[in-house]
Amino acid sequence: MPAMSRLRLLGVLVIGSALAVLLALVAFSPAAQANHSWGKYHWARTSNPFTLKLADNVSSTWDPYLRTTSSEWSVSSVLNTTLVPGTRNPTTCTPTSGRVEVCNAAYGTNGWLGVAQIWISRRHIVQGTTKVNDTYFNRAKYNTDAWRNLVMCQEVGHTFGLDHQDEIFNNTNLGTCMDYTNDPSGLAGTNGTLSNEHPNAHDYDQLATIYTHLDTKTTVGSTSAASTMPPAANQGNLNSRAEWGREIHESPNGQLELYERDFGGGKRMFTFVILA
Ligand SMILES: [Zn+2]
Ligand SMILES: [Zn+2]
Repeated sequence: MPAMSRLRLLGVLVIGSALAVLLALVAFSPAAQANHSWGKYHWARTSNPFTLKLADNVSSTWDPYLRTTSSEWSVSSVLNTTLVPGTRNPTTCTPTSGRVEVCNAAYGTNGWLGVAQIWISRRHIVQGTTKVNDTYFNRAKYNTDAWRNLVMCQEVGHTFGLDHQDEIFNNTNLGTCMDYTNDPSGLAGTNGTLSNEHPNAHDYDQLATIYTHLDTKTTVGSTSAASTMPPAANQGNLNSRAEWGREIHESPNGQLELYERDFGGGKRMFTFVILA
């Protein structure tokens, strides 16, 4: 090969490598770094932003926390949430196709502080519920603004398809409700000083990633979206582990659990749990 061509080849290689580095940098930019989606599950919709109804079945004690969560998640560029009056018995909190039922009750000493449940058809969320357990929230340890904000914000966040950013309870708070912690306010100072009571920019980035593509149909607000679910999906005591299927994930300290119940044919129910 003549010296000149060899030099030119070298030049192409150098430019090529620089381009590869540049592409790698783009791939790891903060927006792309967000990676806490939950198996790419999402609500189907034909345009953004979409508006998801959160049905308010909570007591006046919980209303301010639900209002805060609803308005804070609505900061997302891809979705809005709107509160609508709930018609469910909070004790059973049965799901409604196309929306999220939010409930509180004294569910008993069953071990869980809060749960979020999502029913899936293939990759699309068709309905969801969020429950917070007053049996524990009435105790001094959890009867704080910080714990109520953390749990309400995180459980509602799961119903959009978000996973946790971090699951270790005694490390530095990331400043998001999707980071589990033993100091949600950050005021004890043992986990740094950030509050884990609200979403952060990383959560909004992740939502934008999950909801970048558009679908040809919509499950949001659809009264028929969940009609393809087998009858078993809406029956039984959904507050009970016996109905949640198999445990597929547990956090290092065992405070967070994820269950999957597979009904076959791409129909599934996931249950995210925060233990008390
Ligand atoms: Zn889709
Ligand atoms: Zn969770």
